[in-house]
Amino acid sequence: MSRTSPESRFRLGRCRTGLGLFARVPLRAGVRLIEYTGERISGEEADRRGGRYLFHVDATHAIDATGREYLARYINHACRPNCEARTVGRRVFIYAKRDIAPGEEVTYHYGAVYFRVFIKPMGCRCATCLRRAERVAISPSAAQARLVPSPRAPRAAGSGRRAAPVGAGKVR
Ligand SMILES: [Zn+2]
Repeated sequence: MSRTSPESRFRLGRCRTGLGLFARVPLRAGVRLIEYTGERISGEEADRRGGRYLFHVDATHAIDATGREYLARYINHACRPNCEARTVGRRVFIYAKRDIAPGEEVTYHYGAVYFRVFIKPMGCRCATCLRRAERVAISPSAAQARLVPSPRAPRAAGSGRRAAPVGAGKVR
């Protein structure tokens, strides 16, 4: 199994957020599944480029997986993921946290900084967060709470949000 290529283990497929990576075969807990490959660039260059596919390996090294040929970039974020990203030297690998069945989407947590900058403003659409949102929507107490007029949220002066603050990648 260790010699199997990533292409034979995974397939690209449609999911809630666009494209995702799905297991083709059973994947065992603890196994190194795929490398987060991409263009290796300096931390400074990463800050200049910005973008959603940057993985900050350490303070001075990053991987830019903007190119569509990099398979691991298609792995989506989840708040309760079945995989995790680990840095080994200056490389990043995705490991299975638990056994994964064929057909399951493969996910890992993108890290607190990435979550705050890119995911939270839009609302997380991982399975856990969607289930939570559904529960809130059908709970009577939550429905009542919505009927209470809410005080107007104070608006910060010049509240324009920068899409990508400098240095914000998939920092863990
Ligand atoms: Zn989530």
